[in-house]
Formats: sequence, C-alpha cells, structure tokens
Amino acid sequence: MPLEIVTIPCLSDNYAFLAHDRASGETALVDVPEAGPILAELDARGWSLTHILITHHHWDHIGGLDEVLSRHKAQVIGAKADAERLPPLDLTVSEADTVTVGGENGTVIDVSGHTVGHIAFHFPKSKVVFTADSLMALGCGRVFEGTMPMMWQSLQKLAALPEDTIVCSGHEYTAANAKFALSVDPGNAALVSRAEVITQARSAGKPTGPSTLAEELATNPFLRAGAEDLKSALGMAGAPDTDVFAEVRTRKDNF
Ligand code: ZN
Ligand code: FE
Repeated sequence: MPLEIVTIPCLSDNYAFLAHDRASGETALVDVPEAGPILAELDARGWSLTHILITHHHWDHIGGLDEVLSRHKAQVIGAKADAERLPPLDLTVSEADTVTVGGENGTVIDVSGHTVGHIAFHFPKSKVVFTADSLMALGCGRVFEGTMPMMWQSLQKLAALPEDTIVCSGHEYTAANAKFALSVDPGNAALVSRAEVITQARSAGKPTGPSTLAEELATNPFLRAGAEDLKSALGMAGAPDTDVFAEVRTRKDNF
C-alpha cells in the first residue's frame, strides 16, 4: 500500500504534506509553515504524527513547529549540513540517508541551491518526492544561498527520478510560473495546454499540484534548460545547460 498523501494549504501560498501509512498508522508531516491547518487536518483524520520532515530553514517551512510538537510527540528530522540553523533535530540526515515511515523507506536527496542544506525526501515505493523550494510545479526556488550550477545539479538529481514520480512542492506559485514559462517557451504545446488546466484549477480555488515528474520534464522551463529547442528559443543554441539554466533563472528573477 502506498503512503496516503494529503496536501494542506498553509499561510498565503505554502503547502505542508502528510504522508500516512495505513498499515502501521505512522504519519509524517513534511514542513510546518503554520500549526493551525495542520493540527486541524490531523484531528479531522484522527491521525497522530510520528515524524516531521524539514526541508530547509526558511521560516515559512518551520514556523509552526513548536505548536505542532506541543500536541504531537514526533521525531524531527532535518539536514545535518544545516542543523545549526534548523530547530532542534532528533535525527540529522544527509544525501542518500534513509528515513522510514511505516513500512516504507524514503531517501534523502541534497537539493541545495535555494538554500545550502535544502533536502528533498523521495519515497520510491509510493512514487512521491517532497521537493519544497527546489523543484516546483513549472518552476524552481529562487537561488538565494547556492550557485546557479549547484541548483542545476540539484534539479538534475530530481529529473533523474522515475517519470511517474509525484512532485509535492512547497508553494502555490504555479499560475505565475506558467506566465513566465510561456514567455520563454511559447512554442511548447504541452506547456500551453498545461497552462490552461492551471488557470481552470485556480479559478475553481483548487491546488494546481501535485504534478508528475513527466509533466515537469515536458513543461518546466528550468528542467528544460538542457533541451535544444528551448536553447534556440532563447538565442542560446549550443550553450552549456548550466548557462541556459542560469539565464532562465535570471529572467524569472526579473520577470
Ligand atoms: Zn524557502
Ligand atoms: Fe518557501
């Protein structure tokens, strides 16, 4: 049985996620933007947290931690490389380490770039990856602490996961990301039709995610920085992938 994934909208545009193992009853929370909606969801489902997985140190991913911990005695797990900036951790993890929820092992992926020490959690049996502010639906996080090559390398690790992997990212930025993506990749038919679906979802007040990695590979301009047709559209035919990624990221920063 795959983990049951629940998306919880928090703050103005954040997402937290629950990953619940029905057999054991264990439940992991990925990121804690604020306590209220998370505690309400757990109460409504009658679930108790056993694990809290933290992706990175930004306040909008950890701000509700103390309040959630006051109600749920869960093991707090975060990056060893960033332990000094994170709240107190019960378990520190690094690239390729394993996190076990119920019967399922998740793998830690270092996806530094947005911050140095940002990690993602991949659960291969359930075909889900929690990417927070690294890979996002039609986008990626702003490169605040790392370098452009570092972020590109992190995205390449995620791009190498199986294409049917479900991508759970940390923010509802998809509509704005779609506008930008169309500005750099207007000839991409898959992107044009995805942008229409996104507009419909948002006007119905629904989350645009999670998406699949296959969708991201076809439509996300940051993952497509290695694609020759996108390079040509940007006037960068034959340029190294890293340079194209840096160009796309810089254009988004100024969009
Ligand atoms: Zn962040
Ligand atoms: Fe964030």
